[in-house]
Amino acid sequence: MRSSIHLIGLPTDHNSSFELGAAFAPAAIQEALWSDRGNLASECGLEIGVDIDLIDKSELELTNADNAVDDSMIADAVTQASTSGAIPLLLGGDHAVSYPIVAALAARHGSLNILHFDAHPDLYDDFEGNPRSHASPFARIMENGHAVRLIQVGIRTLNRHCREQAERFGVEIIPIAGFTPALVPVLSGPLYISVDLDGIDPSEAPGVSHPEPGGLRLREVLDCIAKQTAPIVGADIVELNPARDLNGVTAILAAKLVREIAARATRNAGVSA
Ligand code: MN
Ligand code: MN
Repeated sequence: MRSSIHLIGLPTDHNSSFELGAAFAPAAIQEALWSDRGNLASECGLEIGVDIDLIDKSELELTNADNAVDDSMIADAVTQASTSGAIPLLLGGDHAVSYPIVAALAARHGSLNILHFDAHPDLYDDFEGNPRSHASPFARIMENGHAVRLIQVGIRTLNRHCREQAERFGVEIIPIAGFTPALVPVLSGPLYISVDLDGIDPSEAPGVSHPEPGGLRLREVLDCIAKQTAPIVGADIVELNPARDLNGVTAILAAKLVREIAARATRNAGVSA
């Protein structure tokens, strides 16, 4: 029996610290994913609709204002997918969504191993007074014990506070200088993958609110994901801001990540391909 992937949109951006727009990302990624401009194959040969059972669960009707209400809606949707045997793949939304997603999955599976791509460590104790800021989800995840290991890839904005937070929580940051996918460990399960699109270089992914030069190539991100062999219990793709995109290239890139993560999650769940 193959695992289904449940694609769930999270149209929220009120925990963004600088610029709104990520709430419109799920619709933009959906449009790119299903567009006849591309097809539904992945690089390993598995194909959505043929070998990959991708079920579009559409968007949650979040308040985009009240964290308590939205967090419980997100946790419920994740738990529902997970308990039905499906693998939830969430489309943000700003990065604040990762906290309720990971909390729900950790409640079901125990602490997770997390592979996190980002320009930013998102480890602020709070950002400008907001502990639920999109700059803080991994501080909340770590202090609640939801991660066995947190591996951060693409980080190139580390200030003193976040460096201290990383040391305090034992976060493993792979240096961006001299980066190659070979430096990323093959993690044990249960594995969670979080992709903040600003981890990728702005030349490839311009449609983000906090573009940071000197970033990862999509090729490198895909290689890091493809080498993972553990069961993937969930994933998110966050921080697309369609208002800043150019010709939809970042939405198209995010849609490719949907295909590749769905393929890897299907393959790692034990489907022969
Ligand atoms: Mn970021
Ligand atoms: Mn982030």
